[in-house]
Amino acid sequence: MSTNDAIRLKGKPVVEALEAALQPRIDRLLADGVTPKLAIVRMGERPDDIAYERSIVKKCDTLRIAADVHELPADAPESDLIYLLELLARDAAVHGILPFRPLPPHISLKRVKESIKPSKDVDCVGPYSSASIYDRSLAGFLPCTAEAVVALLRHYAVPLEGAHVVVIGRSMVVGRALALLLLDAHCTVTICHSKTRNIREVASEADILISAIGQARMVDGGYVKQGSFVIDVGINDDGCGGICGDVDEASVMRQGVAGVTPVPGGVGGVTTALLVRNVIEACEKSQKN
Ligand code: NDP
Repeated sequence: MSTNDAIRLKGKPVVEALEAALQPRIDRLLADGVTPKLAIVRMGERPDDIAYERSIVKKCDTLRIAADVHELPADAPESDLIYLLELLARDAAVHGILPFRPLPPHISLKRVKESIKPSKDVDCVGPYSSASIYDRSLAGFLPCTAEAVVALLRHYAVPLEGAHVVVIGRSMVVGRALALLLLDAHCTVTICHSKTRNIREVASEADILISAIGQARMVDGGYVKQGSFVIDVGINDDGCGGICGDVDEASVMRQGVAGVTPVPGGVGGVTTALLVRNVIEACEKSQKN
């Protein structure tokens, strides 16, 4: 394979396929007089939260589902946030709740997790949803980003069974969750983190390398083997007013990878599409109860 043959594994076709499947479900709910609604809870005005919020609201608008933004000052007391989450839990018109993280340091994440109603926990914040990652017989929602990576790999028919996958990053919501989902897909999974020794050597043994670390363009050609697939979950400031991933795309392409996800234009859009799917699913379930 020449170095220019690498496929850019773009998120757009994956999003289009997901949304095409969602459309009839949305039509049915709207015809029944039910509008799926997501409640976004944001504390403060972090630019990355606001950018993500805008993209979610725009997507919901396009798909004709409702997205309400509940904004609290960054220094609001914890009790205000918990009160809001409890109100949203009781509000029958709200089907999904998304509190943006990281939360300000004076807020106890544990209390927030306990206040999210499992049936509305569309991005896997609370303990019931988290347990569902480990025990797939539970019905909680899985973390959207981890699921997005698997959806993207499946869309591009990247062989998973028996593949050696190296995941760099071990956060609960991304790296660790992803490792378990890939294990379910019969991959052989290695997890790396900031204390991993010889990380380049470990990474370059992967058939599929996934980076979820938040380090701009750290993963270069030295981390990959020829013919492998590289999935970039990272979203970083590129220093020029835009965003970039963890992966140095040009460098890994020169190494002869088979495919690489771009940033922007890769995993991020799929994550948002799956968030919307979860809201629709939560809404459908609420109608059956
Ligand atoms: P966290 O900061 O919670 O975790 C980062 C992980 O990366 C940690 O496990 C850390 O290791 C590891 N790490 C950091 N630096 C290095 C390094 N130099 N070498 C090896 N490992 C390293 O981040 P998240 O998991 O929440 O997010 C990861 C990235 O994904 C971020 O860029 C974030 O913006 C992005 N993101 C993208 C989404 C999308 O939809 N595309 C959604 C959510 C997040 P250790 O545990 O040892 O500290």
